[in-house]
Amino acid sequence: MAKPKLATTSLAGCFGCHMSILDIDDRILQLIELVDFDKSPINDIKDFSGRCAIGLIEGGCCNEENVHVLREFRERCNILVAVGECAICGDIPSMRNAIPLQECLDEAYRNGPTVHNPTGQYPNDPDLPLLLNKVYPCHEVVKIDYFIPGCPPPADSIWAALTALLTGQPVTLPYGLIKYD
Ligand code: SF4
Repeated sequence: MAKPKLATTSLAGCFGCHMSILDIDDRILQLIELVDFDKSPINDIKDFSGRCAIGLIEGGCCNEENVHVLREFRERCNILVAVGECAICGDIPSMRNAIPLQECLDEAYRNGPTVHNPTGQYPNDPDLPLLLNKVYPCHEVVKIDYFIPGCPPPADSIWAALTALLTGQPVTLPYGLIKYD
């Protein structure tokens, strides 16, 4: 019987949550017994090969490409999981939400103390995705089925959630995995 497929992506995140996925260490060997990896930066597969059982999302949405990818994951995955605080609430990238976008651009490309930009132009290559007015958590863009908290979530949380979902068990994380003080 074909194994269920697992896809992952990083939107506005730092790849720390993907590092935490890899931090399951040798349990990755058990994971590949349970699933086939589909579109994911882990295997560098760029396109979906079919419908996926689970999609893991790192990062929120800061630009139009993030929104496009997130909607594609929602369309292609039966279960969508927001992994980490950036996906859940915007986290560090959303610190810009309190500042008007124009001010952020001016500071980054014109007025910042280390900026050298004699023409005063903003990056405008057509391949660059347009920035959104603010950074959005994933659940404000599509329906999210599960949330795994942490920055990044511990590998044990990701493992517990994944194995529960793949074996049809309820997803429960012990207190020790969601306590951060
Ligand atoms: S939640 Fe933390 S580790 Fe994960 S992408 Fe965001 S900043 Fe990085």
